[in-house]
Amino acid sequence: MDFMCRGRRRIAAAFLAATTVCLPAAGFGFVVPSVTPVPHKRPEAKSPVVPVPVPKPVLSFSESTAPPEAEAADEMPEAVPVPCTVQFADVVDLPAIVGEKGCGFSPAVRLSGVNGTANVGFVPEPTVNCRFAGALSKWIEEDLAQIAVETKGERLKAVHAGPGYQCRRRNNLEDGKLSEHAVGNALDILSFEFVSGDIVTVADDWSGEDPDKEPRRQFLRAVHDAACKRFTTVLGPGADGYHQSHIHVDIGCHGKTCTYRICQ
Ligand SMILES: [Zn+2]
Repeated sequence: MDFMCRGRRRIAAAFLAATTVCLPAAGFGFVVPSVTPVPHKRPEAKSPVVPVPVPKPVLSFSESTAPPEAEAADEMPEAVPVPCTVQFADVVDLPAIVGEKGCGFSPAVRLSGVNGTANVGFVPEPTVNCRFAGALSKWIEEDLAQIAVETKGERLKAVHAGPGYQCRRRNNLEDGKLSEHAVGNALDILSFEFVSGDIVTVADDWSGEDPDKEPRRQFLRAVHDAACKRFTTVLGPGADGYHQSHIHVDIGCHGKTCTYRICQ
């Protein structure tokens, strides 16, 4: 039993060393507890796995009378990642994101790429919820890969985007509704990198008169149109001044039945 006790302390020490505390943003704060991430590929599964509570072990007499530091270690919160299994998405399972003022979600993942025939990466790899990781990956695999070849004449290599999760309100304002970013439901896409190394950016290529750049404009417009069929909210440069440099996509709920879509 004493062997078990020492083992528990080592696990707690490893947890403490790996814990990451993220700085508050715009009046919010959040903490992302992290343990050793578990990368995996499961291209055929279709839906998130329902989280299963991990039972606490029953303390033995020797454990309950252990020295003070071991007692403290026993009180550490369990940061066990909830497995996420979604089609086309390469993900690293993360512990539940726990933030202030309604921020946070689970299952949480770091999305590293799309593993279908598209084979597209993310720069940087965003932190999002499992369901959004699936929706985004499906859009890239089934729509964007083909759009890239049809309009730009080459394959897509990577999507350059924001961090995904951000504990903040909409448009970074101090008041108003919580952003879908705060619950892992959204991503801001800045640009697209192709296998040649060429990069099409929303900021520079969304509009213009240069005929040589017409394929770039066609690519972005087709990407935007396809997104409107996949996500409940799509906000590009045509939406407002907050979205001149990126396309925001999310799977947030609009209306009582969550079927209303915003495409701008
Ligand atoms: Zn956004």
